[in-house]
Amino acid sequence: MSRKPFYAEGIKFECQGSGKCCTSRGSYGFVYLTDDDQKRFAKYFKLTRMQFKKQYCGTKDGNVHLLDPVENKGDCMFLEDKKCTVYEARPQHCRTWPFWPENMSPRVWNKEIATFCPGVGKGKVHTFEEIKKVLDSHKD
Ligand code: SF4
Repeated sequence: MSRKPFYAEGIKFECQGSGKCCTSRGSYGFVYLTDDDQKRFAKYFKLTRMQFKKQYCGTKDGNVHLLDPVENKGDCMFLEDKKCTVYEARPQHCRTWPFWPENMSPRVWNKEIATFCPGVGKGKVHTFEEIKKVLDSHKD
């Protein structure tokens, strides 16, 4: 019999606009981009997808991610004064914070995410079904 995940009863979360999820946290630093993200960004910047990737992206293990400019010390290149400057075009990766597969173990959630992100424990309850749907979307 499998045990229920720690979020079986749902989790309260509402973004507090701290920008903390946009700052470097070592191995969690990269902001990955899906195909749709790349198309949305290209349109947003009025560039071709190729031009957008050349100017703003790198790749790791075949996955496309936003560049990490040295001068930003690992923070997202689009973060300014703790605000996202491309909010309407922001990637799926950002839209689904904090419900990322790598965050959803009790150890990581309690030790890192719940202490790091001020949105955890605030606002509406995201049900187990809603969280699972978001987690499943990361498999696409
Ligand atoms: S794109 Fe915007 S929301 Fe996403 S990490 Fe960068 S600054 Fe934050």
